[in-house]
Amino acid sequence: MTEAQNLFNDLRFRGFTLAVEGDSLFVTPRSGLSNADCAEIAANKSGLIALMTLPARPHLTDAGELCIPLDSDPRFRYWADGQSLFATLIEMDAPLEMWRRHAYRNADLLDGRHGARCKGEAMQGTGFVRCGVCGYYCEMEVKQ
Ligand SMILES: [Zn+2]
Repeated sequence: MTEAQNLFNDLRFRGFTLAVEGDSLFVTPRSGLSNADCAEIAANKSGLIALMTLPARPHLTDAGELCIPLDSDPRFRYWADGQSLFATLIEMDAPLEMWRRHAYRNADLLDGRHGARCKGEAMQGTGFVRCGVCGYYCEMEVKQ
């Protein structure tokens, strides 16, 4: 996550409302902001504005649910001829929990059988391996 994204999440978590009007960024209630907050917001102003004005992207909600906004790029809309949900999970670098919920567990990713049935590549995630083409994943220990 970028510094601007972290700051955005932090401000929202703390109950602030952010709004963009032209080139101006408004964070309310202003009285709740410390001098350090203001300096950080000023340093990340363009990143924050970009975050808020870019088209919506798939993301995880605070409750850990996958959200693919209806106004996101059409390629994310797997239900309307967009790319597969698995390709989107790869693109989001979604955590294991999301794969558990939306994909299929299969240990063949770790041996040659996967290559024999799927053109995709088993890719290492954080604590698990997954394929964005067939949608299989396999939990495995990551050697430190
Ligand atoms: Zn595959």
